[in-house]
Amino acid sequence: MQASSRIENILGGGSDGWEVFARARDMIAAGTPVTELTIGEHDIRTAAPILQDMHRAAVAGHTGYASIPGIPELRDAIAARVSRQTGVPTTRDNIMITPGGQSALFASHMAVIDPGDTALYIDPFYATYPGTLRGASATPVAIKARAGDAFQPRAADIAAHAAGAKSLLVNSPNNPTGVVYTRDTLEGIAQVCRDHDLWLISDEVYDTQVWEGDHISPRALEGMAERTLVVGSMSKSHAMTGSRIGWVVGPAQIIAHLINLATHTTYGVPGYIQEAALFALELGADFEAEIAEPFRRRRTIALDILSRQNTVNAVPNGGAMYMMLDISATGLSGDAFAHALLEKHHIATMPGESFGAAAAGHLRVAMTIEDAGFAAAMQTLCDFAKSLT
Ligand code: PMP
Repeated sequence: MQASSRIENILGGGSDGWEVFARARDMIAAGTPVTELTIGEHDIRTAAPILQDMHRAAVAGHTGYASIPGIPELRDAIAARVSRQTGVPTTRDNIMITPGGQSALFASHMAVIDPGDTALYIDPFYATYPGTLRGASATPVAIKARAGDAFQPRAADIAAHAAGAKSLLVNSPNNPTGVVYTRDTLEGIAQVCRDHDLWLISDEVYDTQVWEGDHISPRALEGMAERTLVVGSMSKSHAMTGSRIGWVVGPAQIIAHLINLATHTTYGVPGYIQEAALFALELGADFEAEIAEPFRRRRTIALDILSRQNTVNAVPNGGAMYMMLDISATGLSGDAFAHALLEKHHIATMPGESFGAAAAGHLRVAMTIEDAGFAAAMQTLCDFAKSLT
């Protein structure tokens, strides 16, 4: 029996870019210790008070079907936070709670894409993007941001592909590059969306991890609230990756459609998790800064190590838990370098090529292990790169 072409095509016939990661996991399973700088997940677990609140909510009986768009208190809290941070008037009717940002990405595209529509996205990209777009029956079209522009996408490059397209997906602070889009970049993106009548899907799951510059939500730019769907999540901001809690912010009419979609797919998010998410949001900005702090610290450690050599160049990373390193001076591709580094020094990184053609000759390093181990791995990586030149 044949599976649907839609589901068979999720990977588009290519790889999912996780070969180095899988090889590292195989080595670990076979008893070889590996330093893993691969996955975008904190080296701490969800804070005990959040778990205690989750337990309290469950024991109090919030274990039945929960409200499908999300419990009103949580939708209100997110709406208030978005209004405060962006200045765009936002109510619970603009908020749909989802099982994580990934689900929000898929749902957003389902809301605006008809089968076969062109959905634009920026290369380098988070590994799931093209598959998410294909899963939503879109035809994904990647637009290269240039390494020479520090991976800030050019409006003209987007405009060149915008005729006839339906949507554009952007992500700032960015995974994999750590780049925070400037106001100019975002104004350019907004202009293209208005000129070509595109929906903008803005993935802002790293909005609490900003080391330089300011996070600007493009929904706040002129004429954008009516055509923008913002993807949010508690995974990165509150170290709640396993709780699967995120949201879509958008026009009320789209949220109403997303409630229908959720009714026929996820049937909502567990109530005890939503209550814990509300509790976590109420811990406020200080708690979010505390969760982000280790990455800020490790970025300084990495920049210090990198400043003492000249083989490896960092892409200026204003945010997120990653560094993108240009290793092209070694003459190796990102893929070959990552495999060699794993083989020789048992350090696992992600080849830039996993995130699209634009990041060829680069490596993504996740700053997700403790400081001393991270510093040692960065030093080894730089020494190894130098040994290849
Ligand atoms: N967007 C980006 C850019 C990500 O890096 C991730 C997770 N790595 C997600 C969305 C999805 O995260 P989650 O589903 O855990 O919210």
